[in-house]
Amino acid sequence: RPRALSGIQPTAGSFHLGNYLGAIRQFVALQETHDAFYMVVDLHAITVPQDPRDLRANTRLAAAQMLAAGLDPDRCTLFVQSHVPEHAQLAWLMNCLTGFGEASRMTQFKDKSARHGSDRITVGLFTYPVLQVADILLYQAHHVPVGEDQRQHVELTRDLAERFNTRFGDTFVVPDPYIVKETGKIYDLQDPSIKMSKSASTPKGIINLLDEPKVTAKKIKSAVTDLETEIRFDEERKPGVSNLLTIYSTLTGNSIADLETTYQGKGYGALKTDLAEVMVEWVTPFRERTQEYLDDPETLDKILAKGAEKARAVAAESLAAAYDRMGFVPPR
Ligand code: ATP
Ligand code: MG
Repeated sequence: RPRALSGIQPTAGSFHLGNYLGAIRQFVALQETHDAFYMVVDLHAITVPQDPRDLRANTRLAAAQMLAAGLDPDRCTLFVQSHVPEHAQLAWLMNCLTGFGEASRMTQFKDKSARHGSDRITVGLFTYPVLQVADILLYQAHHVPVGEDQRQHVELTRDLAERFNTRFGDTFVVPDPYIVKETGKIYDLQDPSIKMSKSASTPKGIINLLDEPKVTAKKIKSAVTDLETEIRFDEERKPGVSNLLTIYSTLTGNSIADLETTYQGKGYGALKTDLAEVMVEWVTPFRERTQEYLDDPETLDKILAKGAEKARAVAAESLAAAYDRMGFVPPR
């Protein structure tokens, strides 16, 4: 079986619809075909300030949501990044193989640092793509299910895997991004020119999966569209409507062409009302399942402990190989 690896940050508490459609949905699917490793990337979360209490609560909350979304600890390895110290260790080696200019070209860093103001930007935020390189290479992952915004980081991972293999001998699998074209970028409901984002979206622009269903319905109904009336998929000219059609189509399994036919001659109001209903039907059981996992922290922690153990076995082997190839003397 090919390997898959991905992660999600425990930052904002609730996952949003972009996280689900762009990433977690694929995590669930790849459990069937891959030896899959999924983690809550708490080490990535601290690249921006985190209150310790929030970080602790949000890490468990993230794991609960991943399980609620359909990850099955019997069919994948679910763990917390900081439970596997090899991530930080391999990241150091990779930092020493990454060009400063190369890291400076990462657009996520440019975007996020522009938002935070340069005096509050940490070296950690700058080097976080390199930690991501280590995350992926440790598991010898063939496929990395992510949203479109992560494509550049997977490219960096490929470059570093090839660089390491060329310089020190074949050690790492060179991974491919696994990005679903239709849902790789879900847009902000209020500004369909930017991606829906934990850190950049306004409350009205983001569908948080743990919002009260009433709130979710309201956000869909107030989504920005355009001045026409026709319901048609046209990302260039009708980004707001196209985003709603993408969401609708993915959650229900109806093709976009079918939806266009169904809504011919109907207004945006009808589309939004129906989509709001679809969303409420999806989030209601999701919220319940998440709460069930949170109510049983013992079971949750046990799942994560078992996941970390399985992950460490794989990660330790890769790290040992990298240390050896680079010329570190093994401890006796
Ligand atoms: P931040 O804005 O702080 O980076 P985020 O909203 O991007 O947060 P992450 O935890 O960084 O959330 O991303 C988890 C996964 O969700 C990644 O694979 C990412 O590519 C994917 N993802 C995030 N936003 C979207 C989106 N709008 N559409 C599709 N996929 C997305
Ligand atoms: Mg992100």
